[in-house]
Amino acid sequence: MKKDNDENNVTVKNTVPLIKDLFHIHKKVGEGTFSSVFLATLKLSDGSKKFALKYLVPTRHPEKIERELQCMQQIGGKDYVVGLELCLRSFETVVFVMPYMRHDKFAEYVQDMTVQETKDYMIALLTALRRVHKFNIIHRDVKPSNFLYDRHNKRYLLVDFGLAQEYVVEKKSNNLKLLNSEAQVTKRKRSDENSLNVSFNIRKKSTEEKCYCFGKAKVCSLCMSRSEQTAPRAGTPGFRAPEVLLKHPSQTPAIDIWASGVMMLCILSGTQPFFHSPDDCTALAEITTIFGSNKMQQCARKLGKKIIFNEDIPGVDVVSLCQKLQKRNKGLLDSNDHNICEKVSLDAQFPKEAYHFVLGLLDLDYKTRLTADQALNHPFLKL
Ligand code: ADP
Ligand code: MG
Repeated sequence: MKKDNDENNVTVKNTVPLIKDLFHIHKKVGEGTFSSVFLATLKLSDGSKKFALKYLVPTRHPEKIERELQCMQQIGGKDYVVGLELCLRSFETVVFVMPYMRHDKFAEYVQDMTVQETKDYMIALLTALRRVHKFNIIHRDVKPSNFLYDRHNKRYLLVDFGLAQEYVVEKKSNNLKLLNSEAQVTKRKRSDENSLNVSFNIRKKSTEEKCYCFGKAKVCSLCMSRSEQTAPRAGTPGFRAPEVLLKHPSQTPAIDIWASGVMMLCILSGTQPFFHSPDDCTALAEITTIFGSNKMQQCARKLGKKIIFNEDIPGVDVVSLCQKLQKRNKGLLDSNDHNICEKVSLDAQFPKEAYHFVLGLLDLDYKTRLTADQALNHPFLKL
């Protein structure tokens, strides 16, 4: 297996001859669905400046490559957003050359971040997002592995514009709408972009009166004949906002803020991943466990959808939940103390403003969710 991987790496590295002439490639530092990233230094240099070479998979759609490139060129190099040094192409292989930043693994620091460290981390992340959003770009894949953190040197870098999308503000309705025609595409090739039919128990309000299956376990013929509703849903399970999971066609930068809220929730609870979300319905169920069925139904209603629950789900107290998860992860939880949702009186490590802050980032309503700018002015980050 290792040999196969090594052979693979050598093949990947040799696909752009100019890279071989210019760089010493040291090791692979990352791998995603669409790329392999290598650490490299310039041959004609003392080797002190390090570069990250991102080799895109040859099957990547040219439009997406162009968008990723433009995002880095226009937005990058400032406010903790990764910049581009060089882009090389040889036949179907495209390589982005970026400054390299050493970074730590989220799993290694999420459990013991101090309050001040958390503030600095969230300030950097929201500063990066504020910049991205100013350019009318939604990153769409905000998550720890795309926000690099060098704990020792206190450095931060938002990377990976592979799923970024442009949006425009519709002046009349004051709605933000995706420019991208992808919103209308019915079938996608990538698994994380596949449209998912969540119509069972979730249906457009206007169809309510006409169909006979609403709330029943069976789908009526009228509903069977309806075309599948589609909306952009690129992103990573566990970080998708409710409006993405509920297939709202008009999505805004607020989806990045939701994802940053999930990251904050991971830190407050010392738990990662916080949501497992194997599929979109389970993801909605997980969010409902936290906020309760009433709030979830309200959220769906505002998006023109309806969700039916078999029973009332009360939701949990986020402060108690996070404190108990922290305690459990540090091995401090009493063996009888297994109900993690019960109110507990523990010494709060994080001030109450931190919980108010996370709930502002995780506002179920994307219209009232904090913007990056508002979040940066929240008392938790200002104190
Ligand atoms: P993908 O689109 O395949 O997810 P990313 O751009 O997210 O590609 O890069 C994958 C991984 O490579 C990142 O999670 C990170 O560990 C590493 N990486 C990416 N860019 C850099 C960089 N500029 N410096 C250091 N490591 C990087
Ligand atoms: Mg990535």
